[in-house]
Amino acid sequence: MRPLVLVVEDEPPLQKLLAYNLEAAGFETAQAFDGEEAVTLIEERLPDILILDWMLPQLSGIELCRRLRRRPETARLPIIMLTARGEEHDRLRGLETGADDFVTKPFSPAELIARVRAVLRRVRPAFAEQVLTFHDLRMDLTAHRVFRSEREIHLSPTEFRLLRHFLEHPGRVFTRVQLLDRVWGSDLDIERRTVDATIRRLRRALNAGGDADLLRTVRAEGYALDHKLAVAG
Ligand code: CA
Repeated sequence: MRPLVLVVEDEPPLQKLLAYNLEAAGFETAQAFDGEEAVTLIEERLPDILILDWMLPQLSGIELCRRLRRRPETARLPIIMLTARGEEHDRLRGLETGADDFVTKPFSPAELIARVRAVLRRVRPAFAEQVLTFHDLRMDLTAHRVFRSEREIHLSPTEFRLLRHFLEHPGRVFTRVQLLDRVWGSDLDIERRTVDATIRRLRRALNAGGDADLLRTVRAEGYALDHKLAVAG
């Protein structure tokens, strides 16, 4: 199970950036653009962690934080607050309100993800170690790294998600349409040949050390992560 991160932030570009990076890092994400929407989403499904912007329209981040802490079901929900530079005074108020950590804007997605992982490790050790393996392939979801034997493989976020999908369903054949839907997201207008191009790049990265090909092309069907039937090249 991927940890669910609810991002409460009213700026769409930042929402988009965070969703993209969090998902590439192995998290599931949900988006709320104001405090009220966040409350509704939390009632529908409790996230594993909340990234909460300080400055929100209507219900402010700090007020939302306070409310969540008062309710028994969300009293221990991990919360990371996003705050603008120089709001040291607010920072103290936020800690009193019960946020677990603070990240000051502007920040890099990598920094925020590291903090998300640190908070989750602290509150839920079960999230600490997550490794997917297949044959001599190893994907460390926590560190966001991939290895073939001892060789580290560097992948783009999309290649990482694609490989992760295969690793979660080894041996199963997926059509291009299924892969588009599950890896790229069905709302994106992407052509099927994008799948082929990404598979080609992923295959090249995985096999760069001269190892056997682990991605099987099933003619007229799609692709699968497979060892037995894989041939080199
Ligand atoms: Ca804001």
